[in-house]
Amino acid sequence: MKTSTSGVVGFLGLGVMGREMARNLAQAGYSVRAYDIVSGAGESLRQYGVDVVNDIPSAVSDADIVISMLPDTPQVDEIVRGPQGLLSHPPRGKLYVDMSTIAPEATRNLSQALAAVGVTMLDAPVSGGPIGAKNGTLTIMVGGEAAGFAQATPYLQAMGTTLNHVGGSGAGQTVKLCNQLICGINIQAICEALALARAWDINLPQMREVLLGGSAASWMLDKLGPAMIDGDSSAGFRIDLMMKDLRLVLEAAQKHPVPLPATALVATQYQNAQAYGEGANGNQALFKVYDRLTGQQTAKAN
Ligand code: NAD
Repeated sequence: MKTSTSGVVGFLGLGVMGREMARNLAQAGYSVRAYDIVSGAGESLRQYGVDVVNDIPSAVSDADIVISMLPDTPQVDEIVRGPQGLLSHPPRGKLYVDMSTIAPEATRNLSQALAAVGVTMLDAPVSGGPIGAKNGTLTIMVGGEAAGFAQATPYLQAMGTTLNHVGGSGAGQTVKLCNQLICGINIQAICEALALARAWDINLPQMREVLLGGSAASWMLDKLGPAMIDGDSSAGFRIDLMMKDLRLVLEAAQKHPVPLPATALVATQYQNAQAYGEGANGNQALFKVYDRLTGQQTAKAN
């Protein structure tokens, strides 16, 4: 197993999460060659010694490990199967870790295709959002072969603090989708509680404090509750991304049929937010749906 921080990382996808993760790898001592389809997306990384390149082969060909942080399944498919992708340009180190949140079944198919050219693929989606990415404190859920996990671990440790190998190919994505299902339903529950309390003129900040001391306490109520109460819609984890993840949950529940009525209902609420042009808002701004349903607003609503 690798123990030093020497090594070349090909990093694909320099958005809200990826650019912070690439920076952490560079600051941990790795040589990072980074690519994003949007030219200029990685400019801020040059000051950390990241080599920002203009195409996928330049980023991946000499890499010991390739890491991607892309929006959804089609983009990951493109960087694997596309004309410039990993099947045509397998990395020197034969190891690929996809940290995006995508479909578990597609992950398995891509993993099998890559195995045929000798490349091990891990799925390693994350929880912790932009702050976790910035601070290198992400929770990382890894699916794939144990040997690949051991090889990837030092690199993952530069980006996260909680690493768990949860099973074979696609298992990381499945666990991440379960994480999203719980988060989405929990936010919905908080919206309902806040809307009811607001209608009954309850002091919402005080109610949040009270509930955090009891069995209704949750990460969402703790971290996102204040922004919900203040009507602060600023983005952390975006509504568009949550809707994408809930879609992936519902697709997975069709493949191996499992009724998920609460998830289906919450997805409708997120669609309502998107229909009102609120997809770029932070997840906590699902509460705006309740502003519309009840005709009430919180004091500082924007
Ligand atoms: P983002 O949209 O900010 O970044 C994605 C980047 O990928 C963009 O810069 C885009 O230009 C680039 N890209 C798209 N297609 C590409 C291609 N073919 N080749 C190279 N680059 C390409 O998204 P994000 O917020 O960084 O999220 C990335 C992934 O992480 C998503 O799957 C998301 O669900 C997951 N995630 C996000 C958060 C969050 O809070 N933002 C938290 C946990 C997990």
